[in-house]
Amino acid sequence: MRAIGETGLDAYWDYTPLEVQQTLFDQHLQLSRETDLAFVVHMRDCAAATIEMLRAARQRGPLRGVMHSFTGDLATAQACLELGMFISFAGMVTFKKSHELRQIAQQIPTDRILIETDSPYLTPHPHRGKRPNEPAMIVHTAACLAEVRGVPLDQFAAETTANAQRLFQFD
Ligand SMILES: [Zn+2]
Repeated sequence: MRAIGETGLDAYWDYTPLEVQQTLFDQHLQLSRETDLAFVVHMRDCAAATIEMLRAARQRGPLRGVMHSFTGDLATAQACLELGMFISFAGMVTFKKSHELRQIAQQIPTDRILIETDSPYLTPHPHRGKRPNEPAMIVHTAACLAEVRGVPLDQFAAETTANAQRLFQFD
């Protein structure tokens, strides 16, 4: 086992009351601390509450986690970075209208950025809409972000691989 999650808060889908999500999220954060396993945060329409909980957890000690499939704003990304979190981008960052998200991705420090498929959804451009998404498609997300960040694809791949190894403790 490499990580705990996805955990986190989601106010978009109305399946579970927010208080219940908060209780479970906090339990996962504590479990991450006890086991030294990374945690994977899902956050949808819940940025303020999520940051608040991460801040509270940070008071208890360093955080080893990632904001998965990040689609928040710059202030949220910065707050997460200040708390020591990694930020991971999925296929959505390649979509034509995702200018703001690409600008955020451009500003994530080299040692904190990750990429992911989030398959079977979020197939990147130019295969958008095709299902299922699959791991091989990650190359499109990587190419998009390498260009945005002004680094060769090889270099960006090496950087994100190193970050994943550090976060999830594998080599
Ligand atoms: Zn998710």
